[in-house]
Amino acid sequence: MESKNTSSNFIKNIIIEDLESGKHKEIITRFPPEPNGYLHIGHAKSIILNFELADEFKGKTNLRFDDTNPIKEDTEYVESIKEDVKWLGFDWDELHFASNYFDEMYDRAVVLIKKGKAFVCDLSAEEIKNLRGTLKEPGKESPYRNRTVEENLDLFERMRKGEFKDGEKVLRAKIDMSSPNINMRDPIIYRIAHAEHHNTGDKWCIYPMYDFAHPIEDAIEGVTHSICTLEFEDHRPLYDWVISECEMESKPRQYEFARLNLTNTVMSKRKLKLLVDENVVDGWDDPRMPTIAGLRRKGYTPEAIRRFCREIGVAKSNSTVDAQMLEHFVREDLLAKTPRTMAVLRPLKVVITNYPEGQIEMLDAENNPDDPNAGVRQIPFSREIYIEQEDFMENPPKKYFRLFPGNEVRLKHAYFIKCNDFIKDENGNVVEIHCTYDPETKSGSGFTGRKVKGTIHWVDAAAAVPAEFRLYEPLILDEEQEEGETFLDNINPNSLEILQGFIEENMKNAKPHDKFQFFRHGYFNVDPKYTSDDKIVFNRIVSLKSSFKIQ
Ligand code: ATP
Ligand code: MG
Repeated sequence: MESKNTSSNFIKNIIIEDLESGKHKEIITRFPPEPNGYLHIGHAKSIILNFELADEFKGKTNLRFDDTNPIKEDTEYVESIKEDVKWLGFDWDELHFASNYFDEMYDRAVVLIKKGKAFVCDLSAEEIKNLRGTLKEPGKESPYRNRTVEENLDLFERMRKGEFKDGEKVLRAKIDMSSPNINMRDPIIYRIAHAEHHNTGDKWCIYPMYDFAHPIEDAIEGVTHSICTLEFEDHRPLYDWVISECEMESKPRQYEFARLNLTNTVMSKRKLKLLVDENVVDGWDDPRMPTIAGLRRKGYTPEAIRRFCREIGVAKSNSTVDAQMLEHFVREDLLAKTPRTMAVLRPLKVVITNYPEGQIEMLDAENNPDDPNAGVRQIPFSREIYIEQEDFMENPPKKYFRLFPGNEVRLKHAYFIKCNDFIKDENGNVVEIHCTYDPETKSGSGFTGRKVKGTIHWVDAAAAVPAEFRLYEPLILDEEQEEGETFLDNINPNSLEILQGFIEENMKNAKPHDKFQFFRHGYFNVDPKYTSDDKIVFNRIVSLKSSFKIQ
């Protein structure tokens, strides 16, 4: 059973106080992605936090697409986001699009203008930036700041009607150009963009800015606790200003927590989109991507991601989490869930010269020693088998306990075999080795006559099924970037290795997303994209061991 982490965090404490004091009767949170890319593991942290907080206090969570920027948004992303939230195990109470509130947002902007709290400004983006001042110096007021209410109402309406080109005019809140908080220096709240919107089509050519739109969206939905990441802390005064000056009835509060960063991982939709667009990866769901779709395709489980997100907790200062911690949780989750099988990734043929030709015997193999109910399967054994190339060495170093001329090893679930001879091709590569087996040493027979130090895995050559294996390493190398370099200069050239080998016969009907533990190799998932009727492809989810220790 998956136990939910009930450990406290500062947002939970605020919620408890708000419920006890009667400030709120019901908690409403929301997850507000912008549909401009696929969700990544950082979003999972936000999803889990929002849904589980509301759930714990019998509240509600909305999924709201924050689609106020028509240029980058797309319905493909809307669909993928819904799928990913559901796959993570959550179900929203209400589904909303910020773009459905455009009429109300427009009306609220008119309220601001009428109160003398907003004005139409003709300065260019560049000029606005230049007059904004710095942390040390106050900004300068726009020459358009003192337009009359009538003039502002007229111009704003004409902006809406499409009389001006992109960038010609903006609507700005009239707050305080000398505020120590730069976000309060007459921020832009509406801009012109003659662009087709995925939801509203060409109905609008003016679009609200995030800082204006977000608090209104929260208030319309009755969100009580609006949780976002730390970089919005400085925007909170503006959030509160909008709620108050727009005279929103409901008064949501914004709370900030530290975003999730992972080692060797880029975590921004903009960068991830670049990897897709530049064909560095094979789509948003490439198993090397930190997207939910990529992790799912690689073979991660929602349980492992949820455990990870709960365990890393909710902090108020940014830090970077070791990506191995995520691997730890998937290993832990898959341990009891996956059957153990054998697969040979880099095959080397072994002929067991004293095994009768034409004979096949069936051996018992335990499916999962960690799960007593998993049962036993039967695997064929005959004169020719495959082992891993790395399990044989002609001239082994010290402490190499696998096969070499004269040495004996245990074949998992089968017999001891001893290497006597080997064949090389014209390039000097070993292509076949010859062994003898000892019938006395059958696995499970209680043989105690002598011991061997190495146990290796194998598959029966006649029965084995060909399979492709895809092994992954981090996509991004952990190296300092030099001047002028971007993360694209730090791509790991070895992030994907594709191998052709063999699996046990009994896996031949495996379906996409079936998961296995391959003895000695780790956990693997049947790839849903490349597996077909005549080819089975496995993604390595994670290897068996890591040096990482959880505290
Ligand atoms: P990105 O920079 O990756 O595009 P974003 O913050 O622009 O992310 P949004 O779609 O606006 O993406 O985010 C939806 C929600 O997910 C926001 O509330 C945001 O704070 C949260 N979120 C995004 N990235 C992370 C992260 N790395 N860790 C925790 N929460 C995150
Ligand atoms: Mg964003």
